[in-house]
Amino acid sequence: MTDCLFCKMVSAEIKADVVYENDNVLAFQDINPQAPVHFLVVPKRHISTINDLTDADTELVGQLFLAAKEVATKLGVAEEGYRTVMNCNALAGQSVFHIHLHVLAGRPMLWPPG
Ligand code: AMP
Ligand code: ZN
Repeated sequence: MTDCLFCKMVSAEIKADVVYENDNVLAFQDINPQAPVHFLVVPKRHISTINDLTDADTELVGQLFLAAKEVATKLGVAEEGYRTVMNCNALAGQSVFHIHLHVLAGRPMLWPPG
C-alpha cells in the first residue's frame, strides 16, 4: 500500500532500525519506546488490522511470533520475560494501520494494561 508508513519501512523508502528480517517479516526498533526494549514485528505484506486476517495468513501470524522470540533471545530478554501486544483498531490504541506485534521488555509489566 503506497500511503502506509510500515509499507514504506518494508520497502526502505523510510529508514528503519532493523533488528530482524526474513522473506515475510521485518522487525525494527519502535521510534517511541515504552520500555528499555521495544521493537515491532510486521508482515512485509500490507494487512491493515487483525480483522483483515484470513485463514491464508495462519503461517504468517506464526512467523511474527517466531521473529519476536528470535529477537528477544538475541537481545537477551527472552528468559527474563517480555510482553507481546497487537492492538486492533482505534479503541484498543492502534495508530498505524498495518498490523504490528509490539515486543516490550526490560521493566516489570503491569496487568491489566491501561
Ligand atoms: P500502535 O499505536 O499499536 O498502532 O503502534 C504504533 C507504533 O508505531 C507506536 O509504538 C509508534 O511509536 C511506532 N512508530 C510510529 N512511527 C514509527 C517509525 N517511523 N518508526 C518506528 N516506529 C514507529
Ligand atoms: Zn502497510
